[in-house]
Amino acid sequence: MTQTNDTIFSRIIRGEIPADILYEDQLAIAFRDINPQAPVHVLVIPKLAIAQLSDGESEHHALLGHLLLTVKRVAQQLGLTNGYRVVINTGEDGGQTVNHLHLHILGGRAMGWPPG
Ligand code: AMP
Repeated sequence: MTQTNDTIFSRIIRGEIPADILYEDQLAIAFRDINPQAPVHVLVIPKLAIAQLSDGESEHHALLGHLLLTVKRVAQQLGLTNGYRVVINTGEDGGQTVNHLHLHILGGRAMGWPPG
């Protein structure tokens, strides 16, 4: 298990630091990225502090599905009818900088491929 420590995202979940929250339920929260890489850049995170995708276990099956459906819900809410990209940076080579699982929703422009 990768250490999550007490990340900045835990502090957002607890309401200790401000965030532009777009959606919240018992399991997940979605808020705007502080350093947007596209006209729309939102993070969807579980309230449970799983450090990264590779720490996901079968007991997280429903939660991981819920996160994807939350992405869909938030994308609809934001009117991303022309599509969007979902990114999960995982570990050092994946470019992950915050050790709390998060799904990036990037939209509002056409994305290039391959990513950097
Ligand atoms: P990653 O590089 O995949 O770990 O993504 C971490 C993301 O968290 C980056 O896109 C950051 O801009 C974003 N981020 C860091 N701190 C905050 C914060 N306080 N509020 C919103 N987004 C944040």
